[in-house]
Amino acid sequence: MENDSGFLSVMFDNIRENIVVVDAESYEILHANRSFVESFGLPLEGSRKKRCYEVTHRNDRPCHESGEECPVRQAADTGRACKCKHVHKDAAGGSRTYRLAAYPIRESDGRILRVVEISEDISEEVMLQDEIRKKSVFLADILKNSPDGIIGNDTKGNIFLFNEGAERIFGYKAAEAIGKIRAYSLYPPGGAREVKEFIYAEGFGGRGRLEDFETKIVTNTGMPVPIRLSCALLHEGDREIGTIGFFHDISGRLALQNHLAESEKKYRTLFETASDAIFSIDGNGLILMANRAAKEIFEYPGHEIVGLDIRRLLGSGQEGTWEVLARYASRSEAGKYVESTAVSRSGKKIPFHISVSESAGGGKSLYTVIMRDVSQIKAYEEDLQVLANTDSLTRLFNRRQLYPIMEREFDRAARKKIPFSVLLIDIDHFKKLNDAHGHAGGDLLLAGFADKMRLALRRMDSAFRFGGEEFVILLPETASREAMIPAERFRQLIADSRFPMPPDGAPVSITVSVGIAGYRDGDTIDDVIRHADLAMYAAKNGGRNQVVDYDHLAEPETP
Ligand code: GH3
Ligand code: MG
Ligand code: MG
Repeated sequence: MENDSGFLSVMFDNIRENIVVVDAESYEILHANRSFVESFGLPLEGSRKKRCYEVTHRNDRPCHESGEECPVRQAADTGRACKCKHVHKDAAGGSRTYRLAAYPIRESDGRILRVVEISEDISEEVMLQDEIRKKSVFLADILKNSPDGIIGNDTKGNIFLFNEGAERIFGYKAAEAIGKIRAYSLYPPGGAREVKEFIYAEGFGGRGRLEDFETKIVTNTGMPVPIRLSCALLHEGDREIGTIGFFHDISGRLALQNHLAESEKKYRTLFETASDAIFSIDGNGLILMANRAAKEIFEYPGHEIVGLDIRRLLGSGQEGTWEVLARYASRSEAGKYVESTAVSRSGKKIPFHISVSESAGGGKSLYTVIMRDVSQIKAYEEDLQVLANTDSLTRLFNRRQLYPIMEREFDRAARKKIPFSVLLIDIDHFKKLNDAHGHAGGDLLLAGFADKMRLALRRMDSAFRFGGEEFVILLPETASREAMIPAERFRQLIADSRFPMPPDGAPVSITVSVGIAGYRDGDTIDDVIRHADLAMYAAKNGGRNQVVDYDHLAEPETP
């Protein structure tokens, strides 16, 4: 018996599994092999006094009392071997998984007082399984979530893998594709053969691979879709067993590229055909790019304008404009423009509306400058001004202008004693002329009459159409007695003139009655006009075709 137990204990100690003999009632460890002792970091002697749950679980109660399966208890109670998995605490306090079996030891009287527990550490195995499980979940996730279509097929083209991405691209459900259709039918005629040739060729990612190959597939409805394809041959040992392909739908990208190219073309056309001068300017104000209009307006053919400083185009004295503009641009006051002149190469000054916008390109400031030539608009504005102030038939100032212009002369007369006079001219018997030649004939005569007036005026004089066939001439720096000379000269000029009348251009002659009024201290504008009017009526009454000075009227008694 001594020998037996000695032999058993040597044998136990050389077994790799943990072996422990436990008292079926108290769970006290009766025997433990070396492997067990080492696993739980116990001194050989110390382990024998302990209870198994204290050692393996660092617990103070038997396992089944704390809700865990207790193989010792089960083996003792049932009399049969009990197998299970247990998580034990190792010597370092870490958890390790054991596959264990408890065998009841029956005494000669049939009672079970002891149980042998043999356990094997399967932690590595469990970890590995866990790893594999995680990996396959991970792979399944990739397959499922990949935006690319992933398709696997065997050497005969039978599809065995068809992920959701493939469903989206091809329009087939996985169940419709797997084992039902052949891979080549996913391509347009000849497409599959081409792909296969390229897989076996050297030049597209190496033999047996195909990388980023752009081709077309056909969907379940026969629609072609551009894709980028990467493929690899699958092997089992040396044997080729199939192909796996990754299909990336590039129709969106191609559409975007087309769209970009299209809009780029549109902007280019806009840029080149715009009548405004458009420049691209760097942060220092140097011209990087200019459109056709810019080159034409500024008279720099070809690329000569590129590299010029925009300030140079703005001309001397206007250089500061650029700084103002650049400030506007950076404050993104879009649509705001500065009115400035710019100078063409030959020195022509052109009025411009200039607006600037800033765009950052590669970390540097870039400006887009649009210069609108407003010389035409300016000319229109001036025309409009003239139109508003002049009479359209005679192109003389209209009556509205008489007051503001006379105001100036009043000022000079009142403050500096510089005299001025006014002539009021009325055409004699104009009604008769209208009657004889029609209203249009009358109009023609009025226009010709205005031409004569312009001819008779000095530079500083101004002529106004005061009413229908009544006119006013303002003679600055002219006292009334001095005004008699030009008035008389004008009366004579008209009397000597012949005006061609419609329909046959037959010449008619007319006469005028002229009233003169000079400014007198204390007069208002209306006083002066009224005096001229009185003098003109005096001329009418005196027999027409004559000039009367109001001064002579006011002193009729004087001989
Ligand atoms: P007088 O001044 O010598 O007393 O005789 P008159 O015939 O000129 O008389 P009045 O000044 O009263 O009449 C002016 C006429 O001029 C009246 C109108 O028919 C004509 N008239 C006024 N404005 C225009 C115009 O714009 N075009 C034409 N054709 N006729 C006008
Ligand atoms: Mg009249
Ligand atoms: Mg008249």
